Amino acid sequence: MYKLSGVTKNYAKGRENVAALRGVDLVVEDGEWLSIQGPTGHGKSTLLQILGGLDRPSSGIVDFDGRDLAQLREAEITRVRATSIGFVFQTFNLVPTLSAQENVEAALVPLHVSAAVRRQRAAVALDAVGLGDRLRHVPGELSGGQQQRVAIARALVKEPKVLLADEPTGNLDEDTRDEIIGLLETMWRERGLTMVLVTHDSAVARRAQRIGVMKNGRLSFRPPARAQAARAQAAHYGPSDLPAGPLQPPDLPAGEEPPADPVPAG
Ligand code: ADP
Ligand code: MG
Repeated sequence: MYKLSGVTKNYAKGRENVAALRGVDLVVEDGEWLSIQGPTGHGKSTLLQILGGLDRPSSGIVDFDGRDLAQLREAEITRVRATSIGFVFQTFNLVPTLSAQENVEAALVPLHVSAAVRRQRAAVALDAVGLGDRLRHVPGELSGGQQQRVAIARALVKEPKVLLADEPTGNLDEDTRDEIIGLLETMWRERGLTMVLVTHDSAVARRAQRIGVMKNGRLSFRPPARAQAARAQAAHYGPSDLPAGPLQPPDLPAGEEPPADPVPAG
């Protein structure tokens, strides 16, 4: 789905230059769920915006299904976004004066489908997130969790290949957080989505198949805690002192392990 090589992003801030990304290499497979953790200000949102074609890298390649988003013309990027990439944000980003249904319909406007089809598809999408009885409510009449459900319906109504979520549970209480992550997981599984989810919350990150950590504009992937401990032990005693057999029990997929030392919330 994605293949990034040597992606950098510099922001000019007055006379200072901020290096938000310092050479990111990343492959995201079709249908994968990847979480990206890391402290505030270390480049997570910048990376997600570049994955979504909302921003361009300063250098490097952002291959999305065989096309380099860094090189596409603006109109082509807009088209890719409108058809293939759904976004969910921490602050929901709904239009306050539009109903839930109108907010979701808005995502279909660039696709030139008729108003009747837009209405119908928006209703189906809202039903799929459990809001079939809230079509006419404006965001101010909905709870935070419900607003995020509307945002998820808006992201998915166009049936994108990819869902990019930037701290989607950052404004929600714990119970609502779990509901929303459960919903995202269901959508990911049932629709064969590719999902990249940025979060500083270990409990959320852990649900993914793979966890990357952003630190100072660099992305790394930690081996599971158990394998790391075994390696440390091997370095100390030498491999011959270790019991024979795999370091990791075969019934424990690597993705189920939390990172060795979770990054503190930022
Ligand atoms: P995170 O999402 O991990 O909190 P960001 O990607 O938002 O981090 O930011 C990474 C760095 O880039 C920060 O130092 C931030 O201040 C800087 N930055 C982000 N966006 C801009 C911008 N539009 N202009 C200038 N600096 C920015
Ligand atoms: Mg951020």
